[in-house]
Amino acid sequence: MLRFAQTCERIAATSKKLQKTRLVADYLLSLDIEDAARAALFFTGRAFPRFAEDVTQVGGSLIWQALAAVSSASAGEMEAGYRRYGDLGGAAGELLAGKTENRSLSLAEAQNTLRELAARRGPGQKLELLTQILRRVTPLEAKYFIKILTGELRIGLVEGLVEEALARAYDRPLTEIQRANMLTGDIGAALRLAATGRLAEARLRLFHPVGFMLASAAETPEDLVSAFPQGGVAEEKYDGIRAQIHKGSGKVRLFSRTLDELVEFLELEAPLRALPGEFILDGEIVGWRNGRPVAFTEFQRRLGRKHAELFLPLELPASLIVFDLLWKDGELILDQPWTARRAQLEALLAAVKQSSGSPAVQLSTLSTAASESEWESAFQAALTRGHEGIMAKAPDSPYVPGRRGRYWLKLKRPLATLDVVVTAVEYGHGRRHAVLSDYTFSVRDGDRLVTVGKAYSGLTDVEIRDLTEYFQQHILENLGFRFRVEPSVVIEVAFNNIQRSSRHESGFALRFPRIVRLRPDKPVAEIDTLERVREVYERQQGPERQAQES
Ligand code: AMP
Repeated sequence: MLRFAQTCERIAATSKKLQKTRLVADYLLSLDIEDAARAALFFTGRAFPRFAEDVTQVGGSLIWQALAAVSSASAGEMEAGYRRYGDLGGAAGELLAGKTENRSLSLAEAQNTLRELAARRGPGQKLELLTQILRRVTPLEAKYFIKILTGELRIGLVEGLVEEALARAYDRPLTEIQRANMLTGDIGAALRLAATGRLAEARLRLFHPVGFMLASAAETPEDLVSAFPQGGVAEEKYDGIRAQIHKGSGKVRLFSRTLDELVEFLELEAPLRALPGEFILDGEIVGWRNGRPVAFTEFQRRLGRKHAELFLPLELPASLIVFDLLWKDGELILDQPWTARRAQLEALLAAVKQSSGSPAVQLSTLSTAASESEWESAFQAALTRGHEGIMAKAPDSPYVPGRRGRYWLKLKRPLATLDVVVTAVEYGHGRRHAVLSDYTFSVRDGDRLVTVGKAYSGLTDVEIRDLTEYFQQHILENLGFRFRVEPSVVIEVAFNNIQRSSRHESGFALRFPRIVRLRPDKPVAEIDTLERVREVYERQQGPERQAQES
Protein backbone atom coordinates (compact mmCIF):
# COMPACT_ATOMS: atom_id res chain seq x y z
CA MET A 1 0.00 0.00 0.00
CA LEU A 2 2.92 2.33 0.67
CA ARG A 3 4.23 1.92 -2.90
CA PHE A 4 0.69 2.35 -4.20
CA ALA A 5 0.43 5.63 -2.28
CA GLN A 6 3.85 6.79 -3.47
CA THR A 7 2.85 6.02 -7.06
CA CYS A 8 -0.33 8.05 -6.57
CA GLU A 9 1.75 11.01 -5.38
CA ARG A 10 3.84 10.79 -8.53
CA ILE A 11 0.74 10.54 -10.70
CA ALA A 12 -0.71 13.62 -9.00
CA ALA A 13 2.51 15.52 -9.60
CA THR A 14 2.30 15.34 -13.40
CA SER A 15 -0.42 16.79 -15.55
CA LYS A 16 0.65 14.79 -18.61
CA LYS A 17 -1.76 11.95 -19.33
CA LEU A 18 0.85 9.82 -21.03
CA GLN A 19 3.13 10.16 -18.04
CA LYS A 20 0.28 9.18 -15.71
CA THR A 21 -0.55 6.01 -17.67
CA ARG A 22 3.14 5.11 -17.82
CA LEU A 23 3.46 5.41 -14.03
CA VAL A 24 0.39 3.23 -13.51
CA ALA A 25 1.55 0.65 -16.08
CA ASP A 26 5.08 0.35 -14.64
CA TYR A 27 3.77 -0.01 -11.13
CA LEU A 28 1.20 -2.67 -12.13
CA LEU A 29 3.87 -4.67 -13.94
CA SER A 30 6.00 -4.73 -10.80
CA LEU A 31 3.25 -6.58 -8.90
CA ASP A 32 1.90 -10.12 -9.09
CA ILE A 33 -1.43 -10.41 -10.88
CA GLU A 34 -3.65 -10.44 -7.80
CA ASP A 35 -2.01 -7.37 -6.30
CA ALA A 36 -2.10 -5.65 -9.68
CA ALA A 37 -5.85 -6.36 -9.88
CA ARG A 38 -6.33 -4.81 -6.42
CA ALA A 39 -4.22 -1.78 -7.32
CA ALA A 40 -6.07 -1.25 -10.63
CA LEU A 41 -9.34 -1.10 -8.74
CA PHE A 42 -7.94 1.31 -6.16
CA PHE A 43 -6.59 3.50 -8.96
CA THR A 44 -10.19 4.02 -10.10
CA GLY A 45 -10.95 5.35 -6.61
CA ARG A 46 -13.15 2.38 -5.75
CA ALA A 47 -13.04 0.07 -2.79
CA PHE A 48 -15.11 -2.59 -4.60
CA PRO A 49 -15.87 -3.48 -8.22
CA ARG A 50 -18.72 -1.57 -9.85
CA PHE A 51 -21.11 -4.49 -9.66
CA ALA A 52 -20.40 -5.42 -6.05
CA GLU A 53 -23.01 -4.88 -3.40
CA ASP A 54 -20.55 -4.06 -0.63
CA VAL A 55 -20.49 -0.50 0.56
CA THR A 56 -18.35 0.51 3.49
CA GLN A 57 -20.87 3.11 4.64
CA VAL A 58 -18.01 5.01 6.16
CA GLY A 59 -18.83 8.65 5.55
CA GLY A 60 -17.08 11.92 6.25
CA SER A 61 -18.15 12.13 9.85
CA LEU A 62 -16.77 8.69 10.83
CA ILE A 63 -13.48 9.45 9.09
CA TRP A 64 -13.37 12.80 10.84
CA GLN A 65 -13.88 11.10 14.24
CA ALA A 66 -11.21 8.49 13.55
CA LEU A 67 -8.78 11.19 12.42
CA ALA A 68 -9.48 13.25 15.53
CA ALA A 69 -8.87 10.22 17.76
CA VAL A 70 -5.55 9.25 16.16
CA SER A 71 -4.13 12.72 15.55
CA SER A 72 -5.43 14.32 18.81
CA ALA A 73 -5.71 17.51 16.75
CA SER A 74 -8.09 20.21 17.91
CA ALA A 75 -11.24 20.94 15.93
CA GLY A 76 -9.60 24.14 14.66
CA GLU A 77 -6.48 22.33 13.46
CA MET A 78 -8.59 19.70 11.75
CA GLU A 79 -10.70 22.28 10.01
CA ALA A 80 -7.64 24.19 8.86
CA GLY A 81 -6.14 20.93 7.51
CA TYR A 82 -9.35 20.10 5.70
CA ARG A 83 -9.61 23.55 4.19
CA ARG A 84 -6.00 23.42 2.97
CA TYR A 85 -6.55 20.22 0.96
CA GLY A 86 -10.27 20.27 0.31
CA ASP A 87 -10.47 16.58 1.10
CA LEU A 88 -10.18 14.37 4.15
CA GLY A 89 -7.43 12.17 2.71
CA GLY A 90 -5.17 15.15 2.06
CA ALA A 91 -5.83 16.50 5.55
CA ALA A 92 -5.08 13.08 7.07
CA GLY A 93 -1.65 12.94 5.43
CA GLU A 94 -0.75 16.10 7.30
CA LEU A 95 -2.61 15.62 10.59
CA LEU A 96 -1.26 12.12 11.17
CA ALA A 97 2.42 12.99 10.71
CA GLY A 98 4.34 11.51 13.66
CA LYS A 99 1.15 10.11 15.21
CA THR A 100 1.11 6.60 13.73
CA GLU A 101 3.08 3.39 14.15
CA ASN A 102 4.23 3.49 10.51
CA ARG A 103 3.61 -0.21 9.97
CA SER A 104 2.68 -0.59 6.30
CA LEU A 105 -0.33 -2.44 4.97
CA SER A 106 -0.15 -4.86 2.06
CA LEU A 107 -2.66 -4.35 -0.76
CA ALA A 108 -4.39 -7.56 0.29
CA GLU A 109 -4.66 -6.29 3.85
CA ALA A 110 -6.07 -2.99 2.61
CA GLN A 111 -8.68 -4.86 0.59
CA ASN A 112 -9.59 -7.10 3.52
CA THR A 113 -9.93 -4.09 5.79
CA LEU A 114 -12.31 -2.45 3.30
CA ARG A 115 -14.37 -5.66 3.19
CA GLU A 116 -14.37 -5.86 6.96
CA LEU A 117 -15.52 -2.23 7.18
CA ALA A 118 -18.41 -3.04 4.85
CA ALA A 119 -19.29 -6.14 6.88
CA ARG A 120 -19.28 -4.52 10.30
CA ARG A 121 -22.65 -3.37 11.49
CA GLY A 122 -23.15 0.04 13.00
CA PRO A 123 -20.94 3.12 13.10
CA GLY A 124 -19.35 2.24 16.46
CA GLN A 125 -17.81 -0.99 15.18
CA LYS A 126 -16.70 0.61 11.93
CA LEU A 127 -15.10 3.50 13.79
CA GLU A 128 -13.14 1.11 15.98
CA LEU A 129 -11.62 -0.68 12.98
CA LEU A 130 -10.92 2.51 11.04
CA THR A 131 -9.18 4.07 14.04
CA GLN A 132 -7.06 0.94 14.43
CA ILE A 133 -5.96 1.05 10.81
CA LEU A 134 -5.19 4.76 10.77
CA ARG A 135 -3.14 4.39 13.93
CA ARG A 136 -1.12 1.61 12.33
CA VAL A 137 -0.19 2.76 8.81
CA THR A 138 2.09 5.52 7.52
CA PRO A 139 0.37 8.91 7.07
CA LEU A 140 0.79 8.59 3.30
CA GLU A 141 -1.02 5.25 3.26
CA ALA A 142 -3.73 6.71 5.51
CA LYS A 143 -4.14 9.52 3.00
CA TYR A 144 -4.89 7.13 0.14
CA PHE A 145 -6.85 4.66 2.23
CA ILE A 146 -9.19 7.52 3.14
CA LYS A 147 -9.36 8.71 -0.45
CA ILE A 148 -10.49 5.23 -1.50
CA LEU A 149 -13.09 5.30 1.26
CA THR A 150 -14.44 8.61 0.00
CA GLY A 151 -14.47 7.27 -3.56
CA GLU A 152 -12.14 9.80 -5.17
CA LEU A 153 -8.35 9.84 -5.39
CA ARG A 154 -8.23 13.33 -6.93
CA ILE A 155 -4.94 12.68 -8.71
CA GLY A 156 -6.25 13.32 -12.22
CA LEU A 157 -6.65 9.66 -13.03
CA VAL A 158 -9.99 8.79 -14.61
CA GLU A 159 -11.00 5.20 -15.27
CA GLY A 160 -10.25 5.63 -18.98
CA LEU A 161 -6.61 6.29 -18.14
CA VAL A 162 -6.41 3.18 -15.98
CA GLU A 163 -7.75 1.24 -18.99
CA GLU A 164 -5.05 2.80 -21.14
CA ALA A 165 -2.43 1.83 -18.57
CA LEU A 166 -3.64 -1.79 -18.71
CA ALA A 167 -3.42 -1.77 -22.50
CA ARG A 168 0.11 -0.48 -22.24
CA ALA A 169 1.24 -2.78 -19.44
CA TYR A 170 -0.03 -6.00 -21.00
CA ASP A 171 0.32 -4.89 -24.63
CA ARG A 172 -3.33 -5.46 -25.61
CA PRO A 173 -5.65 -3.32 -27.77
CA LEU A 174 -7.37 -0.63 -25.70
CA THR A 175 -10.78 -1.51 -27.17
CA GLU A 176 -10.47 -5.07 -25.86
CA ILE A 177 -9.59 -3.81 -22.39
CA GLN A 178 -12.53 -1.39 -22.44
CA ARG A 179 -14.87 -4.12 -23.56
CA ALA A 180 -13.70 -6.53 -20.85
CA ASN A 181 -14.08 -3.82 -18.22
CA MET A 182 -17.53 -2.94 -19.52
CA LEU A 183 -18.73 -6.55 -19.60
CA THR A 184 -17.33 -7.66 -16.24
CA GLY A 185 -17.89 -4.35 -14.44
CA ASP A 186 -14.57 -4.97 -12.72
CA ILE A 187 -11.28 -3.43 -13.81
CA GLY A 188 -9.45 -6.00 -11.68
CA ALA A 189 -11.10 -8.83 -13.61
CA ALA A 190 -10.21 -7.09 -16.88
CA LEU A 191 -6.61 -6.91 -15.68
CA ARG A 192 -6.49 -10.63 -14.87
CA LEU A 193 -7.83 -11.45 -18.33
CA ALA A 194 -5.40 -9.05 -20.02
CA ALA A 195 -2.41 -10.35 -18.09
CA THR A 196 -3.19 -13.93 -19.03
CA GLY A 197 -4.15 -13.30 -22.66
CA ARG A 198 -7.81 -14.22 -22.12
CA LEU A 199 -9.61 -10.93 -22.87
CA ALA A 200 -11.87 -12.68 -25.38
CA GLU A 201 -13.31 -14.70 -22.49
CA ALA A 202 -14.82 -11.61 -20.80
CA ARG A 203 -18.50 -12.25 -20.21
CA LEU A 204 -21.39 -10.16 -19.10
CA ARG A 205 -22.89 -11.60 -15.97
CA LEU A 206 -26.44 -11.36 -14.76
CA PHE A 207 -26.90 -9.01 -11.77
CA HIS A 208 -23.68 -7.17 -12.63
CA PRO A 209 -25.01 -3.94 -14.19
CA VAL A 210 -23.31 -2.53 -17.28
CA GLY A 211 -23.08 1.15 -18.24
CA PHE A 212 -26.09 2.74 -19.93
CA MET A 213 -26.02 3.89 -23.52
CA LEU A 214 -26.47 7.66 -23.64
CA ALA A 215 -27.80 10.13 -26.18
CA SER A 216 -26.53 13.41 -27.62
CA ALA A 217 -28.79 16.41 -28.09
CA ALA A 218 -30.35 17.54 -31.36
CA GLU A 219 -31.87 20.99 -31.71
CA THR A 220 -34.26 20.61 -34.65
CA PRO A 221 -35.88 17.96 -36.88
CA GLU A 222 -33.46 19.15 -39.55
CA ASP A 223 -30.54 17.92 -37.40
CA LEU A 224 -32.14 14.49 -37.39
CA VAL A 225 -32.40 14.40 -41.17
CA SER A 226 -28.70 15.09 -41.51
CA ALA A 227 -27.77 12.65 -38.72
CA PHE A 228 -29.86 9.83 -40.22
CA PRO A 229 -29.97 10.40 -43.99
CA GLN A 230 -31.41 6.90 -44.54
CA GLY A 231 -34.13 7.55 -41.95
CA GLY A 232 -34.32 6.46 -38.36
CA VAL A 233 -36.49 5.35 -35.49
CA ALA A 234 -38.54 8.01 -33.69
CA GLU A 235 -39.22 6.68 -30.23
CA GLU A 236 -41.12 8.52 -27.51
CA LYS A 237 -38.84 10.06 -24.89
CA TYR A 238 -40.12 9.27 -21.42
CA ASP A 239 -39.39 11.55 -18.50
CA GLY A 240 -38.75 9.22 -15.60
CA ILE A 241 -36.04 7.11 -14.02
CA ARG A 242 -33.70 5.11 -16.22
CA ALA A 243 -33.46 1.48 -15.18
CA GLN A 244 -31.55 -1.64 -16.20
CA ILE A 245 -33.43 -4.80 -15.37
CA HIS A 246 -31.76 -8.14 -14.73
CA LYS A 247 -33.83 -11.28 -14.45
CA GLY A 248 -32.63 -14.81 -13.85
CA SER A 249 -33.07 -17.80 -11.52
CA GLY A 250 -36.43 -16.47 -10.43
CA LYS A 251 -34.96 -13.15 -9.28
CA VAL A 252 -35.44 -9.64 -10.63
CA ARG A 253 -33.22 -6.69 -9.84
CA LEU A 254 -33.35 -3.13 -11.09
CA PHE A 255 -30.32 -0.84 -11.36
CA SER A 256 -30.21 2.92 -11.68
CA ARG A 257 -28.08 5.08 -13.94
CA THR A 258 -25.42 5.18 -11.23
CA LEU A 259 -25.53 1.35 -11.28
CA ASP A 260 -26.98 1.26 -7.77
CA GLU A 261 -29.89 -0.99 -7.02
CA LEU A 262 -33.35 0.60 -7.32
CA VAL A 263 -35.53 -0.81 -4.57
CA GLU A 264 -38.47 1.56 -4.64
CA PHE A 265 -40.57 -0.13 -7.29
CA LEU A 266 -41.59 -3.45 -5.81
CA GLU A 267 -44.78 -3.59 -7.86
CA LEU A 268 -42.71 -4.08 -11.04
CA GLU A 269 -41.02 -7.25 -9.83
CA ALA A 270 -43.82 -9.78 -10.20
CA PRO A 271 -44.75 -8.74 -13.76
CA LEU A 272 -41.07 -8.86 -14.74
CA ARG A 273 -40.60 -12.25 -13.12
CA ALA A 274 -43.51 -13.51 -15.19
CA LEU A 275 -41.65 -12.81 -18.44
CA PRO A 276 -40.01 -15.90 -19.96
CA GLY A 277 -36.32 -16.73 -19.60
CA GLU A 278 -33.35 -14.73 -18.39
CA PHE A 279 -32.62 -11.25 -19.70
CA ILE A 280 -31.19 -7.77 -19.28
CA LEU A 281 -33.46 -4.93 -20.37
CA ASP A 282 -33.06 -1.17 -20.61
CA GLY A 283 -35.98 1.15 -19.98
CA GLU A 284 -37.48 4.08 -18.14
CA ILE A 285 -39.71 3.93 -15.07
CA VAL A 286 -42.45 6.53 -15.19
CA GLY A 287 -45.57 7.29 -13.22
CA TRP A 288 -48.59 6.14 -15.21
CA ARG A 289 -52.21 7.03 -14.60
CA ASN A 290 -55.24 6.74 -16.87
CA GLY A 291 -53.17 5.94 -19.91
CA ARG A 292 -50.85 8.92 -19.55
CA PRO A 293 -47.48 9.65 -17.95
CA VAL A 294 -47.43 11.50 -14.65
CA ALA A 295 -45.16 14.60 -14.53
CA PHE A 296 -41.70 13.69 -13.27
CA THR A 297 -41.83 16.47 -10.66
CA GLU A 298 -44.71 14.55 -9.09
CA PHE A 299 -43.43 11.02 -9.66
CA GLN A 300 -40.03 11.67 -8.15
CA ARG A 301 -41.71 11.59 -4.73
CA ARG A 302 -41.36 7.82 -5.02
CA LEU A 303 -37.60 7.97 -5.09
CA GLY A 304 -35.79 7.18 -1.87
CA ARG A 305 -38.91 5.66 -0.31
CA LYS A 306 -39.29 1.98 0.25
CA HIS A 307 -41.88 -0.20 1.81
CA ALA A 308 -43.00 2.17 4.55
CA GLU A 309 -45.34 4.16 2.36
CA LEU A 310 -47.95 1.64 1.50
CA PHE A 311 -50.21 4.00 -0.34
CA LEU A 312 -47.76 5.84 -2.53
CA PRO A 313 -47.53 3.00 -5.11
CA LEU A 314 -51.32 3.09 -5.37
CA GLU A 315 -51.47 6.83 -5.71
CA LEU A 316 -48.47 7.02 -8.05
CA PRO A 317 -48.23 3.66 -9.80
CA ALA A 318 -44.97 2.96 -11.63
CA SER A 319 -44.77 1.65 -15.14
CA LEU A 320 -41.63 0.32 -16.78
CA ILE A 321 -41.39 1.29 -20.42
CA VAL A 322 -38.85 -1.02 -22.05
CA PHE A 323 -36.83 0.11 -25.04
CA ASP A 324 -33.85 -2.21 -25.34
CA LEU A 325 -32.61 -5.75 -24.84
CA LEU A 326 -28.91 -6.32 -24.06
CA TRP A 327 -28.65 -9.97 -23.14
CA LYS A 328 -31.00 -12.91 -23.41
CA ASP A 329 -30.66 -16.49 -22.09
CA GLY A 330 -26.88 -16.40 -21.97
CA GLU A 331 -26.45 -14.64 -25.29
CA LEU A 332 -24.96 -11.15 -25.60
CA ILE A 333 -27.23 -9.13 -27.87
CA LEU A 334 -25.81 -5.64 -27.55
CA ASP A 335 -23.57 -5.93 -30.61
CA GLN A 336 -26.53 -6.74 -32.83
CA PRO A 337 -28.18 -3.89 -34.76
CA TRP A 338 -31.07 -2.07 -33.11
CA THR A 339 -33.61 -3.71 -35.50
CA ALA A 340 -32.54 -7.21 -34.44
CA ARG A 341 -32.57 -6.31 -30.75
CA ARG A 342 -36.00 -4.75 -31.12
CA ALA A 343 -37.45 -7.84 -32.81
CA GLN A 344 -36.26 -10.01 -29.91
CA LEU A 345 -37.56 -7.50 -27.39
CA GLU A 346 -41.00 -7.51 -29.00
CA ALA A 347 -41.04 -11.30 -28.95
CA LEU A 348 -40.09 -11.29 -25.27
CA LEU A 349 -42.82 -8.81 -24.34
CA ALA A 350 -45.47 -10.39 -26.54
CA ALA A 351 -46.67 -12.35 -23.52
CA VAL A 352 -47.32 -9.13 -21.60
CA LYS A 353 -49.35 -7.53 -24.35
CA GLN A 354 -51.62 -10.56 -24.58
CA SER A 355 -51.93 -11.44 -20.94
CA SER A 356 -53.25 -8.21 -19.55
CA GLY A 357 -53.96 -4.55 -20.10
CA SER A 358 -51.82 -3.84 -17.07
CA PRO A 359 -49.32 -1.11 -17.76
CA ALA A 360 -46.73 -2.34 -15.21
CA VAL A 361 -44.48 -3.26 -18.13
CA GLN A 362 -44.90 -1.67 -21.54
CA LEU A 363 -43.02 -1.63 -24.80
CA SER A 364 -41.90 1.82 -25.96
CA THR A 365 -43.93 3.42 -28.72
CA LEU A 366 -42.16 4.30 -31.95
CA SER A 367 -42.47 5.06 -35.63
CA THR A 368 -39.98 5.58 -38.41
CA ALA A 369 -39.07 8.93 -39.90
CA ALA A 370 -36.87 10.18 -42.70
CA SER A 371 -38.00 13.64 -43.79
CA GLU A 372 -38.09 16.76 -41.70
CA SER A 373 -41.88 16.72 -41.61
CA GLU A 374 -41.96 13.08 -40.48
CA TRP A 375 -39.58 13.79 -37.58
CA GLU A 376 -41.58 16.88 -36.73
CA SER A 377 -44.89 15.04 -36.64
CA ALA A 378 -43.43 12.19 -34.54
CA PHE A 379 -42.17 14.86 -32.14
CA GLN A 380 -45.54 16.61 -31.94
CA ALA A 381 -47.34 13.30 -31.45
CA ALA A 382 -45.05 12.46 -28.53
CA LEU A 383 -45.73 15.83 -26.91
CA THR A 384 -49.47 15.36 -27.35
CA ARG A 385 -49.24 12.03 -25.57
CA GLY A 386 -47.61 13.79 -22.62
CA HIS A 387 -43.96 12.94 -23.23
CA GLU A 388 -40.80 15.01 -23.23
CA GLY A 389 -40.01 14.66 -26.92
CA ILE A 390 -38.46 11.92 -29.02
CA MET A 391 -35.35 9.80 -29.01
CA ALA A 392 -34.09 9.31 -32.55
CA LYS A 393 -32.15 6.08 -33.05
CA ALA A 394 -30.09 4.63 -35.89
CA PRO A 395 -31.68 1.31 -36.97
CA ASP A 396 -28.35 -0.39 -37.66
CA SER A 397 -26.61 0.74 -34.47
CA PRO A 398 -25.25 -1.47 -31.68
CA TYR A 399 -25.89 -0.80 -28.00
CA VAL A 400 -22.80 1.01 -26.75
CA PRO A 401 -22.69 0.87 -22.94
CA GLY A 402 -21.52 3.88 -21.03
CA ARG A 403 -20.92 6.09 -24.07
CA ARG A 404 -22.64 9.19 -25.35
CA GLY A 405 -22.59 8.90 -29.11
CA ARG A 406 -24.50 9.94 -32.22
CA TYR A 407 -26.48 6.71 -32.60
CA TRP A 408 -29.11 8.09 -30.24
CA LEU A 409 -30.18 11.72 -30.48
CA LYS A 410 -32.72 13.37 -28.22
CA LEU A 411 -35.08 16.09 -29.35
CA LYS A 412 -36.80 17.72 -26.41
CA ARG A 413 -39.61 20.19 -25.96
CA PRO A 414 -38.08 23.65 -25.89
CA LEU A 415 -38.08 24.95 -22.37
CA ALA A 416 -40.34 27.76 -21.42
CA THR A 417 -38.54 30.93 -20.45
CA LEU A 418 -39.72 33.76 -18.24
CA ASP A 419 -38.90 37.45 -18.39
CA VAL A 420 -38.22 38.62 -14.88
CA VAL A 421 -36.66 41.59 -13.09
CA VAL A 422 -33.67 41.49 -10.74
CA THR A 423 -34.70 42.67 -7.26
CA ALA A 424 -31.72 41.66 -5.10
CA VAL A 425 -28.05 40.95 -5.76
CA GLU A 426 -25.13 39.31 -3.95
CA TYR A 427 -21.42 38.94 -4.44
CA GLY A 428 -20.43 35.63 -6.04
CA HIS A 429 -18.00 32.96 -4.94
CA GLY A 430 -14.48 31.96 -5.99
CA ARG A 431 -13.52 33.79 -9.16
CA ARG A 432 -16.61 35.96 -8.79
CA HIS A 433 -16.12 37.04 -5.18
CA ALA A 434 -15.61 40.68 -6.15
CA VAL A 435 -18.55 41.08 -8.53
CA LEU A 436 -22.30 41.11 -8.00
CA SER A 437 -23.12 37.92 -9.88
CA ASP A 438 -25.96 36.22 -7.94
CA TYR A 439 -29.32 37.62 -8.89
CA THR A 440 -32.61 37.12 -7.10
CA PHE A 441 -35.41 37.85 -9.53
CA SER A 442 -39.12 38.51 -9.40
CA VAL A 443 -42.30 38.41 -11.44
CA ARG A 444 -45.29 40.76 -11.25
CA ASP A 445 -48.29 40.09 -9.05
CA GLY A 446 -50.62 43.01 -9.67
CA ASP A 447 -48.55 46.02 -8.69
CA ARG A 448 -46.24 44.00 -6.42
CA LEU A 449 -43.08 42.19 -7.37
CA VAL A 450 -42.65 38.72 -5.86
CA THR A 451 -39.45 36.67 -5.91
CA VAL A 452 -39.44 33.38 -7.80
CA GLY A 453 -35.80 32.32 -8.03
CA LYS A 454 -32.13 33.09 -7.98
CA ALA A 455 -29.74 32.67 -10.91
CA TYR A 456 -25.96 32.52 -10.99
CA SER A 457 -25.12 31.57 -14.51
CA GLY A 458 -25.56 32.56 -18.11
CA LEU A 459 -23.99 36.02 -18.40
CA THR A 460 -20.53 36.84 -19.70
CA ASP A 461 -17.83 38.30 -17.45
CA VAL A 462 -18.18 41.63 -19.21
CA GLU A 463 -21.93 41.74 -18.68
CA ILE A 464 -21.47 40.89 -15.00
CA ARG A 465 -18.84 43.60 -14.56
CA ASP A 466 -21.09 46.21 -16.17
CA LEU A 467 -24.07 45.09 -14.12
CA THR A 468 -21.98 45.24 -10.93
CA GLU A 469 -21.22 48.91 -11.59
CA TYR A 470 -24.86 49.56 -12.39
CA PHE A 471 -26.25 47.78 -9.33
CA GLN A 472 -23.77 49.50 -7.01
CA GLN A 473 -25.40 52.79 -8.08
CA HIS A 474 -28.94 51.46 -7.56
CA ILE A 475 -28.97 49.91 -4.12
CA LEU A 476 -32.16 50.42 -2.13
CA GLU A 477 -31.20 48.56 1.02
CA ASN A 478 -28.07 46.91 2.38
CA LEU A 479 -29.04 43.60 3.97
CA GLY A 480 -25.51 42.64 5.02
CA PHE A 481 -24.58 39.96 2.56
CA ARG A 482 -27.10 41.02 -0.01
CA PHE A 483 -28.50 44.20 -1.48
CA ARG A 484 -32.04 45.01 -2.45
CA VAL A 485 -31.79 46.93 -5.73
CA GLU A 486 -34.09 49.04 -7.83
CA PRO A 487 -36.13 46.75 -10.03
CA SER A 488 -34.89 47.89 -13.42
CA VAL A 489 -32.78 45.12 -15.00
CA VAL A 490 -34.96 42.69 -16.96
CA ILE A 491 -33.53 39.27 -17.77
CA GLU A 492 -34.86 36.20 -19.56
CA VAL A 493 -34.41 33.01 -17.56
CA ALA A 494 -34.71 29.36 -18.62
CA PHE A 495 -35.27 26.60 -16.07
CA ASN A 496 -35.89 22.86 -15.79
CA ASN A 497 -39.23 23.06 -14.06
CA ILE A 498 -41.22 24.94 -11.44
CA GLN A 499 -41.83 23.72 -7.91
CA ARG A 500 -44.00 24.97 -5.09
CA SER A 501 -41.76 26.62 -2.52
CA SER A 502 -42.07 28.58 0.68
CA ARG A 503 -38.63 30.12 0.13
CA HIS A 504 -39.87 32.66 -2.38
CA GLU A 505 -42.63 35.22 -1.99
CA SER A 506 -44.43 33.94 -5.09
CA GLY A 507 -44.92 30.50 -3.49
CA PHE A 508 -43.02 28.96 -6.44
CA ALA A 509 -39.37 28.37 -7.26
CA LEU A 510 -37.79 27.88 -10.67
CA ARG A 511 -35.47 24.86 -10.59
CA PHE A 512 -32.00 25.24 -12.12
CA PRO A 513 -32.63 28.71 -13.49
CA ARG A 514 -30.08 30.17 -15.87
CA ILE A 515 -30.00 33.52 -17.56
CA VAL A 516 -30.61 33.27 -21.30
CA ARG A 517 -30.00 36.95 -22.02
CA LEU A 518 -30.48 40.49 -20.84
CA ARG A 519 -33.69 42.13 -22.02
CA PRO A 520 -32.89 45.87 -22.02
CA ASP A 521 -35.60 46.17 -24.68
CA LYS A 522 -38.30 45.09 -22.25
CA PRO A 523 -39.85 47.51 -19.73
CA VAL A 524 -40.41 46.22 -16.20
CA ALA A 525 -44.13 46.78 -16.65
CA GLU A 526 -44.15 44.04 -19.28
CA ILE A 527 -42.34 41.25 -17.44
CA ASP A 528 -44.10 37.96 -16.80
CA THR A 529 -46.71 37.63 -14.09
CA LEU A 530 -47.32 35.27 -11.22
CA GLU A 531 -50.33 34.13 -13.22
CA ARG A 532 -48.06 32.90 -16.01
CA VAL A 533 -45.78 31.13 -13.51
CA ARG A 534 -48.85 29.32 -12.21
CA GLU A 535 -49.86 28.41 -15.78
CA VAL A 536 -46.46 26.93 -16.61
CA TYR A 537 -46.47 25.07 -13.29
CA GLU A 538 -49.88 23.58 -14.04
CA ARG A 539 -49.02 22.70 -17.59
CA GLN A 540 -46.04 20.67 -16.39
CA GLN A 541 -48.33 18.75 -14.03
CA GLY A 542 -50.18 17.45 -17.10
CA PRO A 543 -53.82 17.89 -18.04
CA GLU A 544 -54.99 14.95 -16.00
CA ARG A 545 -53.52 16.34 -12.78
CA GLN A 546 -55.13 19.72 -13.42
CA ALA A 547 -58.49 18.07 -13.82
CA GLN A 548 -57.99 16.37 -10.46
CA GLU A 549 -56.97 19.54 -8.72
CA SER A 550 -59.82 21.67 -10.01
P1 AMP B 1 -31.66 13.48 -20.88
O1 AMP B 1 -31.82 12.92 -19.49
O2 AMP B 1 -32.61 14.56 -21.19
O3 AMP B 1 -30.23 13.77 -21.19
O4 AMP B 1 -32.07 12.31 -21.91
C1 AMP B 1 -31.51 11.05 -21.88
C2 AMP B 1 -32.37 10.13 -21.06
O5 AMP B 1 -33.66 9.97 -21.61
C3 AMP B 1 -31.88 8.70 -21.03
O6 AMP B 1 -30.82 8.53 -20.12
C4 AMP B 1 -33.11 7.94 -20.60
O7 AMP B 1 -33.19 7.93 -19.18
C5 AMP B 1 -34.25 8.79 -21.09
N1 AMP B 1 -35.09 8.17 -22.11
C6 AMP B 1 -36.41 8.39 -22.18
N2 AMP B 1 -36.97 7.74 -23.21
C7 AMP B 1 -35.97 7.07 -23.82
C8 AMP B 1 -35.92 6.22 -24.97
N3 AMP B 1 -37.01 5.93 -25.69
N4 AMP B 1 -34.71 5.70 -25.32
C9 AMP B 1 -33.60 5.99 -24.61
N5 AMP B 1 -33.59 6.80 -23.52
C10 AMP B 1 -34.76 7.34 -23.13
